[in-house]
Amino acid sequence: MRLLEARLILKSPAVVVQRRLERGFVKPADYVPGSMLRGAILTALYRSGKLSAADLEREKEKPGLLASPAYPVVKGSRSVPATPFMFYCRRCKAVVDLTREAAERLSQGEEPEPPLLHECREALKPIHGSLVARDGRELRRARVETFRSTSVAIGKDRGSAVRGMLFDYEAIAGGTEFWARILAPDWLQPGSLEVAVGRGASRGFGWAVLRLEPVPQSQPRGKVLVAISPLTPLKRLKWDECSVSLTGVYGRMHKLQAGWEYGRGFRPFVDVARRGSLVIASELSGRPELLQVGLPVKAGDFWLTGLNALFPLDEYLEILGG
Ligand SMILES: [Zn+2]
Repeated sequence: MRLLEARLILKSPAVVVQRRLERGFVKPADYVPGSMLRGAILTALYRSGKLSAADLEREKEKPGLLASPAYPVVKGSRSVPATPFMFYCRRCKAVVDLTREAAERLSQGEEPEPPLLHECREALKPIHGSLVARDGRELRRARVETFRSTSVAIGKDRGSAVRGMLFDYEAIAGGTEFWARILAPDWLQPGSLEVAVGRGASRGFGWAVLRLEPVPQSQPRGKVLVAISPLTPLKRLKWDECSVSLTGVYGRMHKLQAGWEYGRGFRPFVDVARRGSLVIASELSGRPELLQVGLPVKAGDFWLTGLNALFPLDEYLEILGG
């Protein structure tokens, strides 16, 4: 198995929703959950005859294919969730990144400096978990383009509206591009495949091209990590040859309805630290690159995937062009 870089390009609008439990409404997601991306790849390979029913059964028992959440690529730049040490100035629309300084202080057992006023004197607002991306020389908040779709569905082949289909959801616009990291077993090679993400695939929603490319082998990095997915509150994570102890997690907790796992009907609720949380790790051993797609966690007879995706801080900042 090896790590691949994925680009997911929507050929039709996608209906990917997230529930906000505390407020009780459904809104479009600004990402594709790792568990959904994993399911989309498995389904596509099964439909095309590259995987058998027995292969899928094995994936349920012990996942071999894993995916990080997929985040939008905005004007050619990959977006990532903001750490608790990134702040936003409403007046200048600027993002101030104090993550490196905070990580250094936390590693030395000190408290990070509280945020200051922006250079324009406006108070800075924390944006932990919001998406950020490089835009030229600046960091900016990143969003996906969505629109409300009522009583129209899109024909898969023609990209045109299909009559008589009632479908009322806010959809992510066709053409939107996402990036993710995939841990691919030997049977999944670099290349392209057609997948469907989100609801309404039979009505033409969510069809996408997934391109997979090798990721250059990176050197072992430091022990400060950034969770680019929600993080389960465990002191130790272990999967295959990879294990890590988490000595400190800096981020807010919330309740998440986990994405449905491939082939399982129910969706458990789990307490997680918000995406973008900063992690101080110790005893990082095995193949640290597995952390990028998230080490699966067992809940009953159910594997939670698409969580615990951890990038070294240096690589996270490189993605942001810092
Ligand atoms: Zn400002």
